[in-house]
Amino acid sequence: MNYVDRVLEELKRKNPNEPEFHQAATEILNGLRPVVERHPEYEKAALLERFVEPERVILFRVPWVDDAGAVHVNKGYRVQFNSAIGPYKGGLRFHPSVNLSIIKFLGLEQILKNSLTGLPIGGGKGGSDFDPKGKTDNEIMKFCQSFMTELYRHIGQDTDVPAGDIGVGGREIGYLFGQYKRIRDEHVGVLTGRGLSYGGSLVRTEATGYGLIYMVEEALRCRKDSFAGKTVIVSGSGNVAIYACEKAQSLGAKVVAMYDSNGYVYDKAGIKLDVMKQIKEKERARIKEYANRVKGAEYHEGCKGIWTIPCDIALPCATQNEIDEKSAEALVKNGVKYVGEGANMPTTLEGIEVFRKAGVVFLPAKAANAGGVATSALEMAQSSGRLFWSFEEVDRKLKSIMVSIYHNMDNAAREYGVEGDYVAGANIAGFMKVADAMMAHGIV
Ligand code: NDP
Repeated sequence: MNYVDRVLEELKRKNPNEPEFHQAATEILNGLRPVVERHPEYEKAALLERFVEPERVILFRVPWVDDAGAVHVNKGYRVQFNSAIGPYKGGLRFHPSVNLSIIKFLGLEQILKNSLTGLPIGGGKGGSDFDPKGKTDNEIMKFCQSFMTELYRHIGQDTDVPAGDIGVGGREIGYLFGQYKRIRDEHVGVLTGRGLSYGGSLVRTEATGYGLIYMVEEALRCRKDSFAGKTVIVSGSGNVAIYACEKAQSLGAKVVAMYDSNGYVYDKAGIKLDVMKQIKEKERARIKEYANRVKGAEYHEGCKGIWTIPCDIALPCATQNEIDEKSAEALVKNGVKYVGEGANMPTTLEGIEVFRKAGVVFLPAKAANAGGVATSALEMAQSSGRLFWSFEEVDRKLKSIMVSIYHNMDNAAREYGVEGDYVAGANIAGFMKVADAMMAHGIV
C-alpha cells in the first residue's frame, strides 16, 4: 500500500467516528500524492503521520448560569494542531454541532491556510457546542467568561492566538478578551478580531468576505473576465457572506440569493445589502424578515434550493458540506463557471468531483477564505509593533496577499503536473513550507 493510503487508513482506524476529520484529511492527502512521491525523505521521517496528529488537544468543561438561574454545562475545545511555522492561530466556533471531529477538520485545514498566507502562523482551532441563538447579552457574557477562565492558561500572544468563527463575532471576542485581561493582567494581542478601541485592526470584519472576492476577481482577470454583470449566489448571511456580497456588488455583480439556517431569500433585482445588514447584524433576526421588507423578494423554507437558482458564480459562505453532489450538478446544469469557497469545506468530495469534471474554476476554502486569518496576522503585527494602519493600507495588503495565494496555488498545481486543480495546488503550496519547517525541527 502506498504511503498516503496507509496514513489515511491508519488515521481512520485511530480516530473512528470523526467523519469531517476523515473528509478533510482525505482531500488534503490526496492532493499531496505527487509531493510525497518526489520527496521520499518525508516517509522516512513519518512526516504525514506527524502532520495529521495534533500537537495538543485540550478538552474542558464550561459551566455557566442563565438569566433564570439554571445551571448549564457545555464542552470546550482547543486543538493546537501545528506550530511549525508560528504560534497556533485559528478561530473559535460556538455552535451546537461542534464536536472534536469538526474542530480537528478545521484545525487541519487551518495549518495549510495559514501557511498559504505567507505569514508566520501555525494552525489551531477551538470552540464549544454552546448555542448563542436566543441567548441574552448577559448569558453570552457569562458563557464567554467561563470559557476563557479555562482557556486563558493555554493561550498567549506568542503561543496561541484564537479569533472568531461561526457564532463568535465582535461581541464574543470582546467578552473573551475582557476576561483574559482580567485574569492575566496583560493587554496584549492574544485574540484577533478585537474592537478598534482595544487593539483591533481595520478591515478585520470585512476581511474574509473581501478576500474571497479579491481571489475570485484575480481568477476572472486571468481569464480576461470580471465581476461586472455576473449573477452571484452567496450562501449564509453571517460575517463572511455579508462582506463577500458587499465587495462583489461594488465590482458590478448582482447577488440574487442568500440564506440562513432556516431558509433562503431570492431577490431577482439584487440583494439590498443595507436591509440584510439591518436584519442580520443589528437585529440578529431571521432572514425570512428580508422578504417581508423588500418588495419582489421571495422566501423559501430550507436551504438546498438555493443551488438550483441559475448563476455564473457560486460562493458558499455558511458552513461545511453545504454543496453536495446533487447541488453541484444543479449548479453545473445551470451554467455556473466559478465556485469560490468562503466557508470551510462547504463542498463535499463528490461535489468537488462534479465541478472538476465540468471544468468549473474551483477555488478551495483554504486559499479562498484565507483573507480573514491573513488580516488577523496583520492585526498581530500591529499589536506587537503598537501600530495602527489605515483602512486603505490593510485592504491593500489583504488584496496583495489574496492575489499572491492565487498565483502560488496556480504555480504549484502546474509544477506538480495538475494544472488548474486548485484543490491540489493549494494543498501543495501550503504544505511545502510546513514540511520544510517540520523537517528542520527534527523528530518533534
Ligand atoms: P457567522 O456565524 O457570522 O455566520 C454563519 C452563517 O451561516 C449564518 O448565516 C448561519 O445561519 C449560516 N449557517 C450556519 N450553519 C448552517 C447550517 N448548518 N445550514 C445553513 N446555514 C448555516 O459565521 P462566519 O460568517 O464567520 O463563518 C461562515 C463560514 O466561514 C464558516 O465555515 C467559517 O468557518 C468560515 N470562515 C470564517 C472566517 C471569519 O473570518 N469569520 C474566516 C475563514 C473561514 P444562522 O444565523 O441561521 O445560524
